Amino acid sequence: MSVQPCPDLEVLFAELEEGEGSALDHAADCSACSAVLEEHRLMEQDLYRLADPLPPPTLVASVMARVATEPVPQRREVWSGLTILMSSLIGGLGILVMSDQALGRLGTGVASLLVEGRLFVEGVLSGARALWSTEGLAVAAVLAFLLLTSLAGLKRLAGSAPTPSEA
Ligand SMILES: [Zn+2]
Repeated sequence: MSVQPCPDLEVLFAELEEGEGSALDHAADCSACSAVLEEHRLMEQDLYRLADPLPPPTLVASVMARVATEPVPQRREVWSGLTILMSSLIGGLGILVMSDQALGRLGTGVASLLVEGRLFVEGVLSGARALWSTEGLAVAAVLAFLLLTSLAGLKRLAGSAPTPSEA
């Protein structure tokens, strides 16, 4: 077998994904390329370790068990979190609908709303655009805050379950 030049790394990694290819065949016999592949493998391993570990398969069961044994206030906390989330979504939709442009379009088009769904969609979309251009940052911040708080709540509920890194 003649000595081939080392393949482009992009080609090598593409074939690594596919699991076969001439570059991979070359790497098997080439110390430089197999070193690169090994380094890549280790790095990928580290990345997987750094990435949030998947919840343990018993997560739902342990959360439900904890919720069942928790005193009422904590259960209420979960429900109030969900309620806040839902009402903020509904409120957000309300703001979209109430915004001037959307309201104007809806006012004239409300009779034909059912047959002209397009008008409604356009109204909501223009409302969303107006809202986004004026309040985009605030809306994004509120949504991110809600997401984080509900995640934090879930994590606290699941707190007693050992994470894979602790196990
Ligand atoms: Zn090589």
